[in-house]
Amino acid sequence: MSKKVIVIGGGIIGLCSAYYLQKEGHQVTIVDQSNLDSGASYVNAGYLSPSHIIPLSAPGVMKKGIKWMFNSSSPLYIKPRLDIDFLKWTWAFNKSCNANHVKKAAPVIRDISVLSQKLYEDIKASEDFTAHYEKKGLFMLCQTQKLLDEELKLAEMASELGLKARGVTPKEIKELEPNVEINAIGAAYFECDHHSTPHEFMTEMITHLTNNGVTFYTNEKVEDITISNQKITSIKTNKQNLAADEIVLAAGSWSSLLSKKLGLKLLLQAGKGYRINTERHTNINVPAILAEAKTAVTPMNGFTRFAGTMEIAGINHNINKVRVDAIANAATRYYPNLKLTQEEKDNAACGLRPVSPDGLPYIGKSSKCKNLTIAAGHAMMGWSMGTATGLLVSELISNKKTSLNLDTFHPDRKF
Ligand SMILES: Cc1cc2nc3c(=O)[nH]c(=O)nc-3n(C[C@H](O)[C@H](O)[C@H](O)COP(=O)(O)OP(=O)(O)OC[C@H]3O[C@@H](n4cnc5c(N)ncnc54)[C@H](O)[C@@H]3O)c2cc1C
Repeated sequence: MSKKVIVIGGGIIGLCSAYYLQKEGHQVTIVDQSNLDSGASYVNAGYLSPSHIIPLSAPGVMKKGIKWMFNSSSPLYIKPRLDIDFLKWTWAFNKSCNANHVKKAAPVIRDISVLSQKLYEDIKASEDFTAHYEKKGLFMLCQTQKLLDEELKLAEMASELGLKARGVTPKEIKELEPNVEINAIGAAYFECDHHSTPHEFMTEMITHLTNNGVTFYTNEKVEDITISNQKITSIKTNKQNLAADEIVLAAGSWSSLLSKKLGLKLLLQAGKGYRINTERHTNINVPAILAEAKTAVTPMNGFTRFAGTMEIAGINHNINKVRVDAIANAATRYYPNLKLTQEEKDNAACGLRPVSPDGLPYIGKSSKCKNLTIAAGHAMMGWSMGTATGLLVSELISNKKTSLNLDTFHPDRKF
């Protein structure tokens, strides 16, 4: 049965939800407060990476976060704040930083990421999308033995989970990346990973959805949501009142604010990250994460992107130049012939990752509101999990059996 569905948020999660909902025959409207040209879904590193099987909340991360609080150029920064939501999130995050959680989360992350890769490929093939998409794997480049040992262990774990991954020596790195000087003592090489150019896919998807009857209300902010008898009855934007049979909350880092209007307590913090682009020829051919610096390097269509930092400091888009410099300096440490220019650094942009306390997304129907489906909190992996999340949302709303078991992603889960 065709339903009227409003999707709040037109990032990768909202667009992919709209894509599968529209394919099922539903009438879809996307409402977004922005012009759909910036934010996390545009500045990300473009990895579709099942290799990221370890969630952000892993053993030792909280300790590192506390140590790095006093380092203005560290890759992870948690700004201490006397804010009840932040304190609850920190408590839950700390509880999730354990080996047992990682063991449980890894296969689930693998499953949704692998499904997502397949769905990206299906979309590209069936809709004739020309957006850049490549399968060259991903290096975890290491400069210290400690990190190399950790990354090789991770590659082993990934292999045990059926993902293609192995350790490579500097000689093998040179064979795979012959035209670039790389300063690393070795790497884990995740052949299972793919990469893309985010704005190309986003733009093509928006055009496709528009051509297929999806309505877009852009520069329109959802300000209030009315609920009666456990059902959303109306959505108030700064321009109009809207109503629908089903609502999808895919508002990224803002989802927690909106969930409060429904009496829900979605624990979520914004994790700011930056990107620097260079259009100069870097000759970089294989994507890489500079392991010690936690900086991502992606050869995109016509430019190379350097992305990194996770700044848990509330919802804002302030650019911290010290952290931008840290990303640029890391690039030169690993690629000694590369120096990003002042102009490239001045053009840095940022986006907010929606970070749940256990590093896993919220995908599912909340028991407190019958016509609400939540799809948010994908943290560092929203690009990788976008298509699969969209499919799952559509299956839920269409009352179909979901392609994956969603228990681990339930929005009402306890921390
Ligand atoms: C630097 C960086 C690098 C990254 N690299 C990768 C990577 O390589 N691979 C990967 O998988 N992930 C990566 N990520 C993470 C990924 O980008 C995010 O997880 C993903 O983009 C989140 O998508 P989303 O649709 O949930 O949120 P968003 O893209 O933030 O979209 C949410 C939308 O909701 C809208 N909205 C919010 N509130 C309202 C409201 N009240 N009314 C109307 N509209 C509203 C916003 O305007 C926004 O457009 C990276 C992120 C960053 C910042």
